[in-house]
Amino acid sequence: MRKSLRAAAVGAACVVAGAALYGAGAATAGQSTANSTHEPYNIGLLTKDIDTYYGTTADSNGVYQASPDSPYAKDLARIDADARKHIDQAAHTALKHHQKPAVMFDIDDTVLLSLDYEKRNNYGYNSATWNDYVNRADRPAVFGSPELIRYARSKGVEVFYNSGLTEAQRGAAVANLKKVGADVNLDAGHMFLKNSANPPAYLKDCATPGAWTCTTVQYKAGTRKHIEDDLGYTFIADFGDQYSDLDGGYTGRTYKLPNPTYFVG
Ligand SMILES: [Mg+2]
Repeated sequence: MRKSLRAAAVGAACVVAGAALYGAGAATAGQSTANSTHEPYNIGLLTKDIDTYYGTTADSNGVYQASPDSPYAKDLARIDADARKHIDQAAHTALKHHQKPAVMFDIDDTVLLSLDYEKRNNYGYNSATWNDYVNRADRPAVFGSPELIRYARSKGVEVFYNSGLTEAQRGAAVANLKKVGADVNLDAGHMFLKNSANPPAYLKDCATPGAWTCTTVQYKAGTRKHIEDDLGYTFIADFGDQYSDLDGGYTGRTYKLPNPTYFVG
C-alpha cells in the first residue's frame, strides 16, 4: 500500500490547516504538486522543518518521539476538539433516527505514530524494515487518537478501522493498539486489513485471489461502502493521515490528520 517513493516534499506548512476539515470534493486541496518551474523546496531544510513541526526528540531509549507541546500536537488537539463536537451531535441525530452511527479510523499515523521509523530511514521506505518495525508493536499513539476512539464508543458510535497493513500484520497491529489504549473493537469484524491472497467479494472489481489491483481509494472507499450497504451502518466521520483515506465517499465528515513524512496516493 505504501509507495517506495515518499514524495514528502510538499512543505510541512501545508499540513497545518487550521480546523483541517475537508469536504470530499476538496480532499486534495492541501497538496501542492511538482508541476512548477520553481526549484522545489530543499529536502535538507524540509527535514529540519519536519523535526520542528513534530518537536522530534530522542527519548532515553534513543527512540524518536513527537513532543506534546509541538505544532503537530496543537494541530491534532484542534482536530480532536472539532471531532468530539461533531461526533456528539451526529451520533445524537443518527441514534434519534434509528440509524447505526459509525466512525472509521486509518491506523498508520492516524492512531499509531511512525515518526521514529520515518526519521531513522530519512523518510524513505523499505518493506522489510517496515515490517520489522510494525511487528515490534511498540509504536506510540498519535496524540489524542485513542481517547477519541473511546469517546466515540461512549457516544454509542461503532468504531471501525481500515488499514493498508496486511493480514500477516494483524496480531502486531492489535497488540500495539491495545498498548496505546485504543482497545475498542479490535476484532476482525471491525478491523479491515489488506488481504490480497483472499480478498473479500465486495472488492471483486479490483481484487481477486492473488491478484490485487485496488488503489488505496478503491480499497478504502469499497470497504466503507460494504460497511454501510451490507452491514447497515452510517459513517458520521472518517479519520486519516492521507487524502486517499478520505476520498471516494461513504465517510461522513472527513478529518485529515497531519503527516508531512510520506505520501500514499
Ligand atoms: Mg495512515
